Amino acid sequence: MSNPQISVIGFPLDENSSFMRGPANAPDVIRKNLESYSINLCAENGVDFRNNPCWSDVGNVELTTGSDAMDQIEESIRGLLDKGIKPLSLGGDHSVIFPIIKAFAEKYEKLNIFHIDAHPDLYDNFEDNPYSHASPFARIMENRLVNKLVQVGIRTINPAQQTQIDKFDVEVHDMINFDSSMNFDFDGPVYISIDLDGLDPAFAPGVSHHEPGGLTTRQALEMIQNLDYEIVGADIVEYNPDRDINDMTAMVCVKLLKELLAKMTS
Ligand code: MN
Ligand code: MN
Repeated sequence: MSNPQISVIGFPLDENSSFMRGPANAPDVIRKNLESYSINLCAENGVDFRNNPCWSDVGNVELTTGSDAMDQIEESIRGLLDKGIKPLSLGGDHSVIFPIIKAFAEKYEKLNIFHIDAHPDLYDNFEDNPYSHASPFARIMENRLVNKLVQVGIRTINPAQQTQIDKFDVEVHDMINFDSSMNFDFDGPVYISIDLDGLDPAFAPGVSHHEPGGLTTRQALEMIQNLDYEIVGADIVEYNPDRDINDMTAMVCVKLLKELLAKMTS
């Protein structure tokens, strides 16, 4: 157990947000709450992740802007994967997922993504920014980087996005049809991407895009805990500390982080 299996890594980037900045500060605020004496770091499976050598925090990547920042993210993830380490990244807005998956796709031929979000993030073109946080899954799918994309928590599909869902054969479990007992079927390793706005704003107010009618924290945790597949990486994105109330959403991020650590080491 001398070498950590998992690296927590922060991407302080929010320039690809379409509505409001803020998620660039998320990694540091999540870390501050991770260290709070108000909680312990036991996951619900009983494993204590405080001072646990199975993971380490490798800090934030100092990012530039534009496509250079995307390249830096890709390089940092590739560096971890090359060492056999599973990345668990803290965003940042959701634009970080495209370069992350670019690096993963080199290592995993049959990668699957389990994606929690209020939004499909599949716009072909959003405000002429190819890296917009509204478009990363379009970039991933048009570059054929994954075997399968499964989205849950979705509740904002418009005709343009439905066209993209059909085009890329995305498996969407929207909230109107949500069933907590549903099973997910993957062939191969799974990467988990959690956009905090997939949760209802009652549970996670610290996001830029409040979309009522979302998942409870418990439903999100249960889906993650019940994923019986090899989890090779994960991210928590779109936390916006500027919109948070008493660090409530930061603590949701910490909770998700603990359960992801448990899932990725089990
Ligand atoms: Mn979203
Ligand atoms: Mn998103």
